[in-house]
Amino acid sequence: MKLCDAHTHYHFPSLAPCWEAVWPEARAAGVTAAVVNGTGGEDWPLVAEFVRKHSWCRAAYGIHPWQAPRRSAGWETDLRARLESDPRASVGEIGLDAWVEGHDLKDQTDLFLRQWDLAASYGRPVTVHCVGAWQELRAALKPQAPSGEGFLIHAYNGPPEWIPWFAGKGAYFSFSPYFLLDRKRPQREAFRQMPPERILLETDSPELSPPPEHNPWPLHETAGGKSLNHPANLAVALKSLASTLDREEAEMAALTTRNWQRLFGPAGLMAGDVIKAG
Ligand SMILES: [Zn+2]
Repeated sequence: MKLCDAHTHYHFPSLAPCWEAVWPEARAAGVTAAVVNGTGGEDWPLVAEFVRKHSWCRAAYGIHPWQAPRRSAGWETDLRARLESDPRASVGEIGLDAWVEGHDLKDQTDLFLRQWDLAASYGRPVTVHCVGAWQELRAALKPQAPSGEGFLIHAYNGPPEWIPWFAGKGAYFSFSPYFLLDRKRPQREAFRQMPPERILLETDSPELSPPPEHNPWPLHETAGGKSLNHPANLAVALKSLASTLDREEAEMAALTTRNWQRLFGPAGLMAGDVIKAG
């Protein structure tokens, strides 16, 4: 079974010391393609280096709303250069977050739309993060032309009744193993209302682990002991999605792989196709 991860941060330094150990397990679990999302500007070189070494992965470059106050003056020039130098790269992780301390939604919206417009001008898909700012996201997207390339709202936790509106704008939605938390049941069940051709799988690895009773690959940071979400937990997302929709896992794997390729482009290079650093 081949699985494609729509949203990861594989380049995070917390994962680096254990990467060689976790990757064979992820591959055995079926992981064959992934989008690696930058969050700031300082980490874009790490993303570029990661996808250069692991050609089965795609880069996404963007400024996460948490990093909005710390963005550099030259971020836009840098983002253009990244997109020009990598035709397979998308824009992400960008969005709106009303949960983070000291948030300024007006500034976040301005930054979000500037990145959205840049993605549109290069014909690239976008990955959106939204926490507690669904009204604002909807208002921001309202005057925007639907993106021909489509966009992903990762780990969708917005109002279920707004799914058709976002889908009409070109949205895809990714199912996270984090939804296995009891209190996330409504997020799982919202996927029953998604158009099947817009459903993807994600881990957000190394962030947002599933609860311990649903985590067959527990992983901890070498220094500090913080819990890390193993890339193989994409198989946990598949299993939970299949049971939520009352479908076979193989059918859901094929569906989400087709959807991933439609949004992010053909997954031409498969797992294990590692370009050695040189
Ligand atoms: Zn993320």
